[in-house]
Amino acid sequence: LPIVALVGRPNVGKSTLFNRLLRKSRSITHDMPGVTRDRIYGECIMGETRFDLIDTGGMVLESEATPELSKDFEDEIFEQAQEAINEANAIIFVVDGKEGLTPLDRQAAEFVRRSGKPVLMLVNKVDGSEFEAQMTAEFHELGIEFLPVSAAHGYNLHEVRDRVRKYVRDLGLPEHEDDGVEKGLRLTMLGRPNAGKSSIINAVIGKDRLIVSDVAGTTRDSIDVTFEKQGKRYTFVDTAGVRKRANIQDHLEKISVIRALKNSKRSDVTIMTIDITLGVGRQDKRLIDFLAKEKTPFIVVVNKADLVPRNETKQALSLFEEALRVVPHVPVVMTSAHKGVGIGKLLPLAETLAQECATRVGTGELNRIMQAVVEKLQPPVVKRKRAKFYYVTQADEPIPTFVFFCNDHTLVRASYVRYLENQFRKMLGIKSAPVNIVFRSSH
Ligand code: GDP
Repeated sequence: LPIVALVGRPNVGKSTLFNRLLRKSRSITHDMPGVTRDRIYGECIMGETRFDLIDTGGMVLESEATPELSKDFEDEIFEQAQEAINEANAIIFVVDGKEGLTPLDRQAAEFVRRSGKPVLMLVNKVDGSEFEAQMTAEFHELGIEFLPVSAAHGYNLHEVRDRVRKYVRDLGLPEHEDDGVEKGLRLTMLGRPNAGKSSIINAVIGKDRLIVSDVAGTTRDSIDVTFEKQGKRYTFVDTAGVRKRANIQDHLEKISVIRALKNSKRSDVTIMTIDITLGVGRQDKRLIDFLAKEKTPFIVVVNKADLVPRNETKQALSLFEEALRVVPHVPVVMTSAHKGVGIGKLLPLAETLAQECATRVGTGELNRIMQAVVEKLQPPVVKRKRAKFYYVTQADEPIPTFVFFCNDHTLVRASYVRYLENQFRKMLGIKSAPVNIVFRSSH
């Protein structure tokens, strides 16, 4: 699918726009409070037009987003904007009409212009046509055609949708990727260059039958490799992306977070590969945080185990577990692609993960579990009130998503959400897949 990236400095309203565009476009994600919250990636379906929308604003992690715009933070934003611009097929560049034109806007506009990609510039926070002329005057200087909008109040959003649709259509990119091959379970390899991704793919496929393979001289940007193992079909998605970066023999080369997210969304299971000799770097940590935030089913593979003496591997692994604290359910496998160690565990683990994701539970059973779980531990009293759960249902989502209808979702604390998640995992036997717990207040 074509990628459209929302680019702009913080607080111009990218996330509001993102949610607006997704919501009104019959998005894949559910139109239910809580389900789309915190998303940075979504598939938009506008009439006949489909594309992936990425909110680069959501890519600044909370820990990094200090209130004062430090130099580091500014660099971070630019890196992300730059990456978004590189990976995207079209750009929505957002500025703030209330704040006016800032130096950061000028810099971003420069990047956008240099990319030569189709760009739609939006002057946001213009709450009606009566303010237009005055609030947008100074933005003409950027030399990019723009549209005044209000993401919060909906002003001109209809026009935005029409324009975006036109931009995406004019790209002439394929909007579905079905090449008629039965692909089986889809896997994505993720990780820094030289972590061993290609080696693992080769080790996993081994001598087994390749259904579709790389065609020399192909100009396709994304190459899927489909193979059969013990009578079952699997596909490694976007191996071109794996190899492209592997050619650049540089450990410091950045992983494209956008490409990673896109591929992960196209796959059933993501295999995040880390080089045991290098440990969990800042980029690895960042990717793990994204995968966690996007509730992606994934496995962590700690590769090149042969390079660490046997008596030190335990200690090395404990470091990785520390980095995975945010996602304690994620399986960690130690491998050596060279020696074939641990490789045999990957496909069965991926199968288990996919099966767990496909868990569907009836409302009756869910509510029996809820009653037992709440009886065992009542939600704590908050603001002299206690959360009361009326019933729970499973939403139609790619990962197990349980929607709790309650009196007031603001009374439910994070620790209690964790308790509910853990209990539901235990009762339903969901060990390694992500689980989404969502609340909906009914008044
Ligand atoms: P990619 O960039 O993540 O696809 O990494 P590659 O698969 O190209 O591997 C990068 C380098 O690490 C190559 O020189 C591999 O031979 C080496 N490598 C990969 N897996 C292992 C492993 O398990 N053990 C050792 N010692 N080297 C490995």
